[in-house]
Amino acid sequence: MAGAGIATAAEAAALLLVWEPIDTARMLAAVADDKAGANVLFTGTTRGVTDGIQTRRLAYEAHEPLARAELTRLRDEAVANYALTACVISHRLGEVAVGETSVAIATSAPHRREAFAAAEWLMERIKTDVPIWKCEEGADGGRTWIHPGCPPVAPTLVDGFGRVHTDLRISVTDRCNLRCTYCMPLDAVFKPREELLSYEEIARVARVAAGQGIRSLRITGGEPLLRRGVDTLVRQLVVIPGIEEVSLTTNGLLLEEQAVALRSAGLHRLNVSLDAISADVFERIARRQGLDRVLAGLAAAKAAGFRSIRINAVSIRGLTEEEIVPLSQFCRREGFHLRFIEFMPLDGESSWADAQVLSGREVREILTKQVGPLVPGTRTDDGQPAVDYEYADDGTATSVGFIDPVTQPFCDRCDRLRLTADGQFRNCLFSTTEWDARQVLRTGGSDDELARLLRDCVRAKRAAHGIGTASFERPTRAMYQIGG
Ligand code: SAM
Repeated sequence: MAGAGIATAAEAAALLLVWEPIDTARMLAAVADDKAGANVLFTGTTRGVTDGIQTRRLAYEAHEPLARAELTRLRDEAVANYALTACVISHRLGEVAVGETSVAIATSAPHRREAFAAAEWLMERIKTDVPIWKCEEGADGGRTWIHPGCPPVAPTLVDGFGRVHTDLRISVTDRCNLRCTYCMPLDAVFKPREELLSYEEIARVARVAAGQGIRSLRITGGEPLLRRGVDTLVRQLVVIPGIEEVSLTTNGLLLEEQAVALRSAGLHRLNVSLDAISADVFERIARRQGLDRVLAGLAAAKAAGFRSIRINAVSIRGLTEEEIVPLSQFCRREGFHLRFIEFMPLDGESSWADAQVLSGREVREILTKQVGPLVPGTRTDDGQPAVDYEYADDGTATSVGFIDPVTQPFCDRCDRLRLTADGQFRNCLFSTTEWDARQVLRTGGSDDELARLLRDCVRAKRAAHGIGTASFERPTRAMYQIGG
């Protein structure tokens, strides 16, 4: 029966990007056709060893709408150029076990030559043209992001202590819909809108930064979801060559409304700040209501397809102790990765005191006593300041992280730079100097000038923030004005 089995558009679309093992039998069935004299099924499988190092974990991340559009375009081109009777492509996303198929192409053509040639052409083009990144984590703890289409860039953002900077935190606003005691004063005064960088200006800075070796971008604030159309900024950032991850930190209040738009814009990862799971403590910290909205936002983010959502909880002595256990139980139940953060002297009311710092060690002790023993995690991530622990008796591999900038500073491996909402580069949260990118942007400065400014900012980075030392100087800006 002529035409039977040729993939319908819906079937081809369903196969294109998949989070489950690729169904090669379904692919072959989709291209089966009685005009075809040859069917070729190419499968690319994941290697267990790269350059002599055993692979511990492999994952694929994509900017999905673009990846989908690009794969469809390539398939249509292959069908036209090689006179195929049918063709379907399937690419895995998320974690893929070693030895499994990560990409598969099924072609059918009247003659085998075309079917082979089309599959080979497609495979090469997929590697170079489609925005899908592979993250390989070796047994030695090293992590490599691979996208053959991205030219390797020699790192230029190296400071005087040899630290290579690959992460840029971008604040899009200093405004917030909460008034957390540890961050903002009740009577906060915000920058006039004209002083904030436009999305186009931010994207230009990000492009220049990527050219200097920045690989990950985090959108933050203030509360980034308060700024209109932040998904349009995400769209501009995810396509910058060299940028491997774009993430966003939010208090979650507006997430329910925006989760789908952010996900379809290609946002890779979400961090949600949630210090308390009881409405009473939430309100005492945030000085506004909103717990229900944060929980609804988290549910919406999950439903929108965000994976590995992180929950950040600031620990404050005398305030959050009772929240630690219920928060950890909530996160375990929901599959969120919880991280406790020590309170830093960056509050808007300058009332931080050493005695309020509830250390990561103390939080760990509370969890060990009341939830179960914790053991150091098996996964390390150099790009993250958090030290991860796992529940020893768990079996579900849920972990909890500790970011201890006060008691266990991690300045020696800091790879972060910041761009404030009003366009200032900072090399540290506690920096007392800023480098004015907005002036370069708004006085006709070139990309080279911006790159030089960023390199100057990196070169001036101090060895450590120095909290607790006699020479420590509190920055004049609070966290909401810098971008956390
Ligand atoms: N509004 C967004 C949010 O709540 O995630 C993004 C900005 S907020 C400033 C970023 C992060 O900084 C939040 O996780 C917040 O808890 C944390 N933060 C703010 N002030 C802090 C402080 N003084 N010490 C430690 N963490 C702080």
